[in-house]
Amino acid sequence: MSERIYNFSAGPAVLPVEVLEEARANLLSLGDTGVGIMEHSHRGKAFSAVLAQTEADCRKLASIPDNYQVLFLQGGASSQFFQIPMNFLESGQTADYLVTGSWSKKAVAQAKRFGTPHVAASSDDRNFTYIPRQFDYSNDPRYVHFTSNNTIFGTQWASEPEAPGDAPLVCDASSDIFCRPIDVSKYGIIYAGAQKNLGPAGVTLVIIRDDLVEAGRSDIPEMLQYRIHAENDSCYNTPPTFGIYLMGLVFKWLLKQGGLDEMHRQNRQKAEKLYAAIDDSPLFKATAEQDSRSLMNVTFVTGNPDLDADFISYAKERGLDGLKGHRSVGGMRASIYNAFPPEGVDRLIEVMGEFVRSRG
Ligand SMILES: *Cc1c(COP(=O)(O)O)cnc(C)c1O
Repeated sequence: MSERIYNFSAGPAVLPVEVLEEARANLLSLGDTGVGIMEHSHRGKAFSAVLAQTEADCRKLASIPDNYQVLFLQGGASSQFFQIPMNFLESGQTADYLVTGSWSKKAVAQAKRFGTPHVAASSDDRNFTYIPRQFDYSNDPRYVHFTSNNTIFGTQWASEPEAPGDAPLVCDASSDIFCRPIDVSKYGIIYAGAQKNLGPAGVTLVIIRDDLVEAGRSDIPEMLQYRIHAENDSCYNTPPTFGIYLMGLVFKWLLKQGGLDEMHRQNRQKAEKLYAAIDDSPLFKATAEQDSRSLMNVTFVTGNPDLDADFISYAKERGLDGLKGHRSVGGMRASIYNAFPPEGVDRLIEVMGEFVRSRG
């Protein structure tokens, strides 16, 4: 096997080696069943046990209260952009959106198909380099939607915004879920595509409060009703069995690491080191404002796109891959999710220093 390199990709992203090794061992036969994990019926005993354990470990990891459902859906986080307003917004009804980047903008665009989203805050005025502190909520919004971490712009909410009245808080946590402790009881819905911090692409984790499961429309296609997935334990149709299995291994790995408090400590340590190196560098500059910086996606530039490109290939030659910033912002982006090893951050800092010296 060729050596693994440091993968800074924003998603699909690095997974823990231990998890990949365990999955590899179970590809041909899950335990002693003689049938590979991907070949088991989703209604059989072996997979049912995997599903139950994955859900139990998810609940344990985030102390998810009993009045929340844990669902494993498909269609990515992008399908939640429309599934949520489709269920909860009727024509003329308003939901408030806090717009902090491209993903939030996409969520607003989908909500417009079903109701009247109101943008209660936006950081568009400074190209999404910060998290807004002031909100202009509408009267009685059906829900408040925000994106906890802005994968493309490298900003992150330090804590969840306060929703007005009893409006449920809805969170797209695709790129920072379980990077730190989360108080699920403050939310109505938390959703995340798996491919950044939880597992492979193809499964979406949706944590949703019971009253919202019940409140969703019942005159839309079954596959789009949360109640149908909740009533059928995510097995109304064939769920993404391999993705659920792998996510389960990631949950086990997180628990073994010491849970979300410990992940938070590790993530802070990695990010603080990297931001400090950028701040100290005569060449590199962080793009996100200091108090809005993401623990997961560290975005930075040299100020010269040609020099950025040089650095990206210089780093790639040294085994650091995936550092190119999103095409809409340019520069560099180091995605350092839960599974990204601290040694990779040290190596990046070294290579940044070598690059600066090589350019005089
Ligand atoms: C990647 C990402 C998405 C899109 O996820 P898909 O699973 O590809 O639909 C949505 N929101 C955020 C914050 C993301 O990082």
